[in-house]
Amino acid sequence: MPFASLGLSQELAHAVAEKGYQSPSPIQAQAIPAILEGRDVMAAAQTGTGKTAGFTLPMLQNLMQGRRARSNRARALVLTPTRELAAQVAESVEAYGKNLPLNSVVVFGGVSINPQLQALRRGADVLVATPGRLLDLYGQNAVRFDDLELLVLDEADRMLDMGFIRDIRKILALLPAKRQNLLFSATFSGEIRDLARGLLSQPVEVDVSPRNSTARTVSQRLHPVDKSAKPKVVSRLIRDNNWQQVLIFTRTKHGANRLAQKLERDGIQAAAIHGNKSQGARTRALAGFKDGSVQALVATDIAARGLDIQQLPQVVNFDLPQVAEDYVHRIGRTGRAGAEGQAISLVCEEEFKLLNDIEQLIQTHLERVPLSDFEPKLPLPDSKPLRPLKAKKPKKPKSRSGDGQSAPAKAADKPQARRDHDKSHGEGHNRPKPQRRRRPGRSDQAERGQSSGQGRRRAPQRG
Ligand code: ADP
Ligand code: MG
Repeated sequence: MPFASLGLSQELAHAVAEKGYQSPSPIQAQAIPAILEGRDVMAAAQTGTGKTAGFTLPMLQNLMQGRRARSNRARALVLTPTRELAAQVAESVEAYGKNLPLNSVVVFGGVSINPQLQALRRGADVLVATPGRLLDLYGQNAVRFDDLELLVLDEADRMLDMGFIRDIRKILALLPAKRQNLLFSATFSGEIRDLARGLLSQPVEVDVSPRNSTARTVSQRLHPVDKSAKPKVVSRLIRDNNWQQVLIFTRTKHGANRLAQKLERDGIQAAAIHGNKSQGARTRALAGFKDGSVQALVATDIAARGLDIQQLPQVVNFDLPQVAEDYVHRIGRTGRAGAEGQAISLVCEEEFKLLNDIEQLIQTHLERVPLSDFEPKLPLPDSKPLRPLKAKKPKKPKSRSGDGQSAPAKAADKPQARRDHDKSHGEGHNRPKPQRRRRPGRSDQAERGQSSGQGRRRAPQRG
């Protein structure tokens, strides 16, 4: 099915063709016509299924109908949880909108606010923003929403995970009541549905992925190893398989640094990406990884979240994630949009419980492949039989509506406080911050900025 048959204009169909997409992904095929009709849409599809184009293409087409943005006004607002995602969405808006006379502006924290103030002065047909910086800008009268036609919450499940609900509510209160609303998420949890109920009006619901399933094009296996052997094993795997681009997940920032250093010592081009790295270091690491000069990128979960690295062939879980759902997100980095990928987990005996959580969540036993040189001294127990997943009952039936949609691994997990990662605090940003623990293993991973494109983006025709 060609893109044009969804009702997209020539300009957009051309831009999509230039990106090399042959046909719409399932989420795109379902969401695009509904958005073009002006309906509110609530869409869930797993990571890597093309949600960005799913809302960006019809959004741009709808915006072509109205008057161009006035000074310090936004006509469409796309909220994303992290700076990386904001930058990526903005890039997509620019790429798909290259043949259209629409401006886009992207704003996020951790970088100087002045260029953003300037960019907004000329108005934004599309404003892509992280919540904290948007509120700062609003507070400085840099943006007003009286002309707002369309709101997109991208990666809505992440936003809630990261504790943005209060900021989102504050922002919603600033928007005109009459507008089109789009909510995109990897999953529909009970919380997402709660949010959607207050936000969307008679939404078209699109759910194209079985909940918590992992991408089918990703082959998954595990190597049972001792904890102490893991760095050596990674190094060996990279060399033996001649992996040119591998994303490696560690549980802590410290662990990411140590592993990257070890790989470097072994002659493998490696870089770590996590919240303690300076913005420049993060940008360089990511750029190097994309252009092939960095062979191994070692990342913590939050740092890696949402990074769109095209057709990443190889993901390694150096540590298993503390929260089983993160396993699904991690391996969603590979095999994106139908490309083949391989996910390998190094699992030691101490991680057996985490492994069981993952296997129960994805309802699959990971294939075990012993490495002859690295037989563990502490053997990994046999996997437990798979129990069918039950939707967890909400803890407080009174405050929850109890629609039974809660994601199994963390139904009771409530963000206690918003992580402070989106506040503007200059470029150095290594100030101490209070520890806020909500998930095990996450406390050292508050996100810090990385940016390339802040400020104004502009379609060529307009200049
Ligand atoms: P999601 O937001 O669902 O995680 P993205 O929007 O980031 O996914 O898209 C993932 C990748 O798939 C991107 O590299 C994007 O360019 C690519 N992609 C999107 N739509 C298509 C399509 N119709 N055909 C081929 N590739 C696509
Ligand atoms: Mg996305």
